[in-house]
Amino acid sequence: MTTSITPSVNLALQNTQSCNSELQQGPWLLDLPEMPDTYGPGASQSDLIPAQTPRQQVLPERYQRASDEELHEKIRAAKATLGDRVVILGHFYQRDEVIQHADFVGDSFQLARAAKTKPQAEAIVFCGVHFMAETADLLSTAEQSVILPNLAAGCSMADMADLDSVEDCWEQLTAIYGDETIIPVTYMNSSAALKGFVGEHGGIVCTSSNARAVLEWAFERGQRVLFFPDQHLGRNTAKAMGISLDQMPLWNPNKPLGGNTVAELENAKVLLWHGFCSVHKRFSVAQIDKARAEFPDVHVIVHPESPMAVVDAADSSGSTDFIVKAIQAAPAGSTFAIGTEINLVQRLAAQYPQHTIFCLDPVICPCSTMYRIHPGYLAWVLEELVAGNVINQISVSQAVASPARVALERMLSVVPSTKKA
Ligand code: SF4
Repeated sequence: MTTSITPSVNLALQNTQSCNSELQQGPWLLDLPEMPDTYGPGASQSDLIPAQTPRQQVLPERYQRASDEELHEKIRAAKATLGDRVVILGHFYQRDEVIQHADFVGDSFQLARAAKTKPQAEAIVFCGVHFMAETADLLSTAEQSVILPNLAAGCSMADMADLDSVEDCWEQLTAIYGDETIIPVTYMNSSAALKGFVGEHGGIVCTSSNARAVLEWAFERGQRVLFFPDQHLGRNTAKAMGISLDQMPLWNPNKPLGGNTVAELENAKVLLWHGFCSVHKRFSVAQIDKARAEFPDVHVIVHPESPMAVVDAADSSGSTDFIVKAIQAAPAGSTFAIGTEINLVQRLAAQYPQHTIFCLDPVICPCSTMYRIHPGYLAWVLEELVAGNVINQISVSQAVASPARVALERMLSVVPSTKKA
């Protein structure tokens, strides 16, 4: 049986306008010590990597030099040798050359839960970004190792909120609010340390699928919410709940009182951290107008990490899972303009040829951090596993894991209001 080999560089990138010509190169060039401290080519290329973020050592040369076909053969052979001892998880935003080797494909939380169905796997190889591997470690057994093929695959949004800044913010807020209860809510796209912080302070984790139900949970327990790191998900969700914009001040961690007056903070219901996703902030109302002008029947769906004006101008907004299900359920011949990461949009367009599906942003600009996972890194970590070596393991300390699990369990206990009896 022959298996088709797809090139490690997406051919579509070569024929279309891309946000950076370096996308044609191997991401290991970005692991070299002389490279600038940014996430490299892609939508988050100009975001700085925080100093505490783990860095990838140089990928062994034999993987850098291998052809695409050789890398795929190495991966298949190592997987066959390891059998049930390994499970490979692939995030929706991951490139197809990696996704073709995944046992499960989904969003970060779906994948962490999918790994639980494979308790016999000694190793969980997470082809996503750092916070996702941490979450998988939180939800896996003590005997399992979670591996991130490229340690430099962080998430620029998650890195915009660090524990020190959040603790500093918390101190300032509790000084102002006194006895009132503030509930901290962290988006899944955050470090395990922040999940631990919210677990310790009566707070909770949310995803883009359950953010509204989680905010309702929070307001049953407190007067105000501190929401981090994504301002857009927080604003879009709170606005849909009827909270006015003047009750949602932005907290800039680099300014005293987050850049607000005491009066503004006293009026606040939801404090929004100054974080964003560099991929989703690229979407604009002008792109939606253009799509509607060209395709009058188009259905515009955007991810709620997009700016408020974009969500307001779209026909619907929702998580990656929501987007996938909307396309699956549509009658043949539908036209969709999608506001989310390009790898998922291109995959959906290939999987559903009965529809016209395109990305709102005409410039091909993938998530830089996902881009750091390449078949070369996957081949490397799998061959090391065959040799008995666990490399690039992500493990969350016990001190952080216990409260972080509490925050995740609170999230799992939340039932959306529409489902309440
Ligand atoms: S798409 Fe945005 S939020 Fe998702 S991993 Fe990339 S930078 Fe982070």
